[in-house]
Amino acid sequence: MPTAAQLDVPAYLDASRGFFERHGQFVEADVSPDDLQVSSEEVALPRLGLRARYLVFCQGFAASWNPLTAGLPFRAAKGEILTVKIDAFDEGRVLNAGSWLAPHAPGLWRFGATYSWHDLTDTTTPEGRAELEAALRALLNRPFEVVGQQAAVRPIVAGQRPVLGFLPGSPVGVFNGLGSKGALMAPFFAGELAEALASGDAKAGCTFSFWHSA
Ligand SMILES: Cc1cc2nc3c(=O)[nH]c(=O)nc-3n(C[C@H](O)[C@H](O)[C@H](O)COP(=O)(O)OP(=O)(O)OC[C@H]3O[C@@H](n4cnc5c(N)ncnc54)[C@H](O)[C@@H]3O)c2cc1C
Repeated sequence: MPTAAQLDVPAYLDASRGFFERHGQFVEADVSPDDLQVSSEEVALPRLGLRARYLVFCQGFAASWNPLTAGLPFRAAKGEILTVKIDAFDEGRVLNAGSWLAPHAPGLWRFGATYSWHDLTDTTTPEGRAELEAALRALLNRPFEVVGQQAAVRPIVAGQRPVLGFLPGSPVGVFNGLGSKGALMAPFFAGELAEALASGDAKAGCTFSFWHSA
């Protein structure tokens, strides 16, 4: 895939946090719906000393445990990936043949990914590792060593389209359903949401993909 791009997500998140911290706009905390005081005009989180015109939940699959967003029709899929060491392998491109193999660090590659719709935990499994090792053996003509394994749940919702919008008549919203394409789709859809918030369209409601809680 010569035209594919890679986003270093941890570096991007660190840089984003740094940016908002420098502007005094970043607070790290676990937020419970019980923390919220919601009126039609604003949302307050007294425990954190915060008030805002809007609150947008961006929780990924964890939104299924939030009573305010529990109506999201998740068709989530767990995915596992491996980090592998491959000696004397000099391939800088992302390879895709059913599975993908992408450069990660000098001498290291990432290989993925599995799909599971029944186990929706974020723990790695021996079955996931075995499936990936077999697929990588079929792709590569040289030995490799597994040095890492990770698992996470893709927040896929029915229709496989992002879900962004507000509870009817409420300043509480949701930005979710990025599924298996979060890095690809988040910038465009976050821009749409930010524009709607800044222009006041969010208050009007149905200007974009609208979500109802039940
Ligand atoms: C194996 C695998 C491979 C993937 N490959 C790709 C790819 O190649 N390209 C691509 O574009 N996408 C890929 N994705 C998909 C991408 O990772 C997701 O689309 C993206 O992570 C979704 O982003 P999100 O912010 O909506 O949710 P998440 O990334 O799940 O982030 C939600 C965040 O909210 C936090 N949170 C939840 N509840 C609370 C709470 N109550 N209080 C405070 N914080 C809370 C969580 O801690 C988490 O940090 C892949 C996913 C997997 C699993």
